[in-house]
Amino acid sequence: MSSLTGDSVAAEDLPTWEELPPGGVSDDFGATGRKDMGFWRGGGQRPLIDLNMCVQCLHCWISCPDSCFILEEGKVAAINYEHCKGCGICAQECPPMVNAIVMIEERRFA
Ligand code: SF4
Ligand code: SF4
Repeated sequence: MSSLTGDSVAAEDLPTWEELPPGGVSDDFGATGRKDMGFWRGGGQRPLIDLNMCVQCLHCWISCPDSCFILEEGKVAAINYEHCKGCGICAQECPPMVNAIVMIEERRFA
C-alpha cells in the first residue's frame, strides 16, 4: 500500500478500501498539514487574540478543530492562520468574562 503524502498519487497507487486502516486513521497529516489552507476563510472572519486578557484556560486550544493554537511553554502564544478556517469556535469557547478572542472581518487584513 502506498503512503499518502499529500502529493499527487496515481489512482492505481491509491489503497483500496480493504487496505485502509480501521477507522480511516491517517498516519500523515496529508495535504492540509503542509499547505496554507487559510484561504478557506475567504470573505469570512479570522480570530484575533489579546494575550493581555487571556487567562490561559486553554479552552481555545482544546476546542479548535484545526489545532491552530500555538503553545509556548504550555501557554497560548499565537494562532496559526495557515490552518484557521474562521469557524469562530475558539471565540465562543473563550470564557465570556475574559473574551480574549474576537472575530474580525477578513477583508480588514487584505
Ligand atoms: S476560528 Fe476555528 S479554526 Fe480558526 S482558530 Fe478559531 S477554532 Fe480554530
Ligand atoms: S480560551 Fe480565551 S482565555 Fe482561554 S486560553 Fe484561549 S484565549 Fe486565553
